[in-house]
Amino acid sequence: MEKYVYDFAEGNKDMKDLLGGKGANLAEMTNLGLPVPAGFTITSQACQRYLAQGTHVDGLDEEIDRHLAALEEAMGRKLGDPADPLLVSVRSGAKFSMPGMMETVLNVGLNDESVAGLSRQAGDNDRFAWDSYRRLIQMFGKTVCDVPGDEFEDALHKAKVAKGVKDDVQLDADDLRALVSAYKKVFAKHVGHDFPQDPRHQLDLAIEAVFRSWNADRAVLYRRQERIPADLGTAVNVVAMVFGNLGPDSGTGVAFTRDPATGESGIYGDYLQNAQGEDVVAGIRNTLPLADLEKIDKKSYDELLGIMATLEGHYHDLCDIEFTIERGKLWMLQTRVGKRTAAAAFTIAAQLVDEGMIDLDEAVTRVSGAQLAQLMFPRFDLSADPSPLTRGVGASPGAAFGEVVLTSADAVARAGAGKNVILVRRETNPDDLPGMIAAQGILTSRGGKTSHAAVVARGMGKTCVCGADGIEVGRDRFTVGGQVVHEGDMISVDGTTGRVYLGEVPVRPSEVVQYFEGDLDPALANEPLVSAVHLLMTHADEKAKLKVRTNADTGVDAARARRFGAHGIGLCRTEHMFLGDRRELVERLILARTETERNDALSALQPLQRADFLDIFREMNGLPVTVRLIDPPLHEFLPSLEELAVQVAVAKERGEDSPRGERMLAAVRRMHEQNPMLGLRGVRLGLVIPGLFGMQVRAIAEAAVALAAEGGHPRPEIMVPLVGAVQELETVRAEAEKIIAEVVGDSGVEVLIGTMIEVPRAALTAGQIAEAAEFFSFGTNDLTQMAWGFSRDDVEGAFFWRYLELGIFGISPFESIDRDGVGRLVRIAADEGRAARPGLKLGVCGEHGGDPESVHFFHEVGLDYVSCSPFRVPVARLEAGRAAIESTGSDHR
Ligand code: ADP
Ligand code: MG
Ligand code: MG
Repeated sequence: MEKYVYDFAEGNKDMKDLLGGKGANLAEMTNLGLPVPAGFTITSQACQRYLAQGTHVDGLDEEIDRHLAALEEAMGRKLGDPADPLLVSVRSGAKFSMPGMMETVLNVGLNDESVAGLSRQAGDNDRFAWDSYRRLIQMFGKTVCDVPGDEFEDALHKAKVAKGVKDDVQLDADDLRALVSAYKKVFAKHVGHDFPQDPRHQLDLAIEAVFRSWNADRAVLYRRQERIPADLGTAVNVVAMVFGNLGPDSGTGVAFTRDPATGESGIYGDYLQNAQGEDVVAGIRNTLPLADLEKIDKKSYDELLGIMATLEGHYHDLCDIEFTIERGKLWMLQTRVGKRTAAAAFTIAAQLVDEGMIDLDEAVTRVSGAQLAQLMFPRFDLSADPSPLTRGVGASPGAAFGEVVLTSADAVARAGAGKNVILVRRETNPDDLPGMIAAQGILTSRGGKTSHAAVVARGMGKTCVCGADGIEVGRDRFTVGGQVVHEGDMISVDGTTGRVYLGEVPVRPSEVVQYFEGDLDPALANEPLVSAVHLLMTHADEKAKLKVRTNADTGVDAARARRFGAHGIGLCRTEHMFLGDRRELVERLILARTETERNDALSALQPLQRADFLDIFREMNGLPVTVRLIDPPLHEFLPSLEELAVQVAVAKERGEDSPRGERMLAAVRRMHEQNPMLGLRGVRLGLVIPGLFGMQVRAIAEAAVALAAEGGHPRPEIMVPLVGAVQELETVRAEAEKIIAEVVGDSGVEVLIGTMIEVPRAALTAGQIAEAAEFFSFGTNDLTQMAWGFSRDDVEGAFFWRYLELGIFGISPFESIDRDGVGRLVRIAADEGRAARPGLKLGVCGEHGGDPESVHFFHEVGLDYVSCSPFRVPVARLEAGRAAIESTGSDHR
């Protein structure tokens, strides 16, 4: 029989699949001998079962009985015993952390009788007992029975107003007893029966509610955003309660072993006296900095610091921690390898190398291309010295400006209308998630670095300032001092410094980009972030098997990409070279009625092309440059049919003669296609329009010879697009070879000829095609389009949302390579191509070349390079290094 319940002593940190992150780490801490309250974990498998069946799971109750009995035995108390009750918390905790997404109920086991027993346990502390009871009804009501949370909030608010106090700690035992009555009425009104008094029944209901919270709307949305699989389920932890709300000698807090925003080591966290755990995260009262705990309770503080060091040494990484102090006794309630900003990820990885905790391989796997991409975002330019409106805690770095919105719904609406928005809230809760996703940045007036807003924003890489307590948030405005900022006004928020500015502050490039560009201000060279990036990128490059090239069509782009570390150009598109004032020549080419007219147009284009190529070859001197012959349907260069038809009709109406217009119209009509992406384009164009490819080949060869004559080392590669059959390629090749031989002579220049693999038939006949190709480059955009039969420009807007919702794919196959289908075509072509021609060069030039997930796939397939836009080059370099390190699979600690 399957085992559904594990005592903390039975688990460890590597059992996250089964026990969830929280449960696995509670077990790990228990086994490290740290002070963790006793408890047990119900597996995520039990949750999967429960959700699949929609009802209780056979055998689970009995297992819970057994573990509960053991827990009661260990604690010397029985759950909800009227004389001396054991209370427990029932806590969600999935494999991947989903902060605030699922549910937790504290103080389970309290009822009208055991509340008196709890008071006696605490030395006749009625206030504490009733405070705990009202919390249970509130959390249980909200979580288990869907009672609207505001109703409890309102009742609490009324109690405070009636008493004339601001804080809940100022309510006494009688006030809280009255509040419990009020809460029970709210509960009964909404649920249709009284608050359940049987402790074991409370426990069962709470467990099922946690199971169900896996499928709450906000959890589903969060998983989609974070690409967490939908079928994992959550584990449930049942933990003996310890109490931070017993008085000023008690309290609860969260801590980080290093600063999660910058990575600096030190004491980071928040502490709240006389409170239960959820108060800190919810930002109910403003917290104290953790360092203040030293004055409040030195013994616990020292112990906590010792435990933090133990945990860092054990996990070899930044940990975050939840703890509670019950009358001077410290308890650990949670730890995990903490979320961090992109900058902190790099700095911490480098520091841990310095400290000898991890090696460079491990360090590289601790950072990601997505994080590096974030660091390449611009920052605010403060040279005009704008004076801040106010400041809060810089909780998630970045520079964002936008119009003020005060609700999640408004954020979604305004962002949908194409505006930049900043979501301003007192504090956020999981219901604000859609607005947080829609916003450029988030600003809250309450809560610290560990508040919901901060944690979620960091996870999304979104700029966030929180705890800006100088602002008063209203319904359609917020005020700072006397100043009023209305909904729709522009503000700028700096998630690094925590400053908030009125209006739009200009932005400047990041120092990481400056570092890659090689024009870093020398004063910044020793900045920890820059040195960390340098260290990790250097190592990633050393380890990488995949080379990274760039997609670039101009000398300027080529030069930048080269500074960013590109090993050449994987895709130089020639079509843009036919735009602007050259359009006229293309029109002449298309409208040519005789061979002479056509040759004239081509001869006029040829020197222009040669100059384009020379520019690029120079910038990439010594490195390979793959030039793709013209690819798009030619009518893309002509005016639209509608426009032209109107022009010609108007001219006729006026009695004007426009023979050119009419000829053009006829040509456009003739060339009109139902499915241009599947029509006359790519190699087909080259075979239909005599001299077109030849002109380009000649321009490439001449440019290469010109650079060689200057003493340079050109390495041109000519790439034929949209080939589906080897015969197409052979025909083009025969013509090209003749021209190349003629131009190159004995200059020593070598020109390779290869093809794109972007039509499924090409992938499936790669063995034949390799006979005529010196290299393959996978055009994964078209290959995806044609393998799925998707018209990219149409499908993404039309129905992809539905496919994502249904889980038909977890992410758009245009964003990340579809390993099973499109990826299979890539594998077949790579294997059969290399079998036919050993040493065949293989690369990728679709947008997937810059996507981290896809880079790992291309590494696995054994390609030689990926090619991506200049800005993605560092990202791809890093991921190529990670892929190589991860695939060696050794233990790097
Ligand atoms: P989340 O995953 O949202 O952080 P948790 O399950 O960690 O939810 O619990 C919410 C809060 O309640 C946390 O602050 C936690 O430390 C506190 N808490 C949980 N279990 C206990 C317990 N047994 N005793 C005291 N506090 C607890
Ligand atoms: Mg927690
Ligand atoms: Mg293509």
